[in-house]
Amino acid sequence: MELQDRYRRKVNYLRISVTDRCNLRCQYCRPLGKEDFLPHGELLTFEEILQVVKVLAEHGIRKVRLTGGEPLLRRGITELIEGIAQVEGIEDISLTTNGVLLERFAGDLKRAGLKRVNVSLDSLRPERFALITQRDAFQEVWRGIEAAMKEGLEPVKINVVAMKGFNDDEIEDFARLTLRMPLHVRFIEFMPVGENQWEISRVIGCKEILERVSHLGRLIPIPSGEFDGPARRFKLEGALGELGMISPLSSHFCSRCNRLRLTPDGKLRACLFSDEEVDLKAYLRTMGEEGILVALKEALDKKPFIGVRDGFRIRKCQRGMHEIGG
Ligand code: SAM
Repeated sequence: MELQDRYRRKVNYLRISVTDRCNLRCQYCRPLGKEDFLPHGELLTFEEILQVVKVLAEHGIRKVRLTGGEPLLRRGITELIEGIAQVEGIEDISLTTNGVLLERFAGDLKRAGLKRVNVSLDSLRPERFALITQRDAFQEVWRGIEAAMKEGLEPVKINVVAMKGFNDDEIEDFARLTLRMPLHVRFIEFMPVGENQWEISRVIGCKEILERVSHLGRLIPIPSGEFDGPARRFKLEGALGELGMISPLSSHFCSRCNRLRLTPDGKLRACLFSDEEVDLKAYLRTMGEEGILVALKEALDKKPFIGVRDGFRIRKCQRGMHEIGG
């Protein structure tokens, strides 16, 4: 069975944010002053999440990503993964993490059925990492990346939010990593989300990033596969890894968008840049499984099409990224 929205886009990907809590305090994601977290009772239980995945898989969802907050902070996360991995129809299950706890979890995640991980890392310099995240944990994250590679949670993707005057002097260093390691380094344009201190002057477009990395060697474009998502992929000639450019601002990928997002408190979101949410949890708790389908239909009907245009297009969403999960 295939799920389609009203623009006939195939929707087969669900991103589930399992918590809004995080053990890092990245300035651009959860700024200081934002101290409140959802009470535990507001969160979808694992049983409910599994129920949602089962019903959506029956209707065409094939790929699931767990995110947060920091998903490895939610107790029992490996059991949830084990449950999702057994759902018929789910072909791909991945996780986005800041990597701090990854060394400890990598083996269990693999055994639970996780296929691969994306690790968010905005600097290769320990002092700068500590400045961005408010925690001196670069070495833990790096050991986490190594553990994920060792366990075969591959490809291990490194997500770098590129910000002018902050980490843009490391773009080439990140790209060079792919020459000697089988990592997929993906540069993401800095987005205006929640109450973050976003300014257009801090954004580096993927075009500029691509131009800069092209000085390191010949860039070979790689065609995208069905589950590749919005990244435009490249390989530096002779490299073990890959580069990816994710450009939500400079080049919207609405026409290829195949995603739905589930927030920790059970809201179904059809677009990162739209604040429209459907209260799936309320439907589920009053109507049972039937309620999941009602929420699904409503979300698909609301899924917008912003379209493609050149240049930066700014549409800020109100909820913080630490709640939506990126
Ligand atoms: N804690 C996990 C992690 O660090 O990957 C998962 C949640 S985090 C919100 C998911 C991703 O969103 C991270 O890669 C983070 O860098 C990215 N992100 C947060 N705020 C962003 C922004 N304003 N623009 C672009 N990416 C952002």
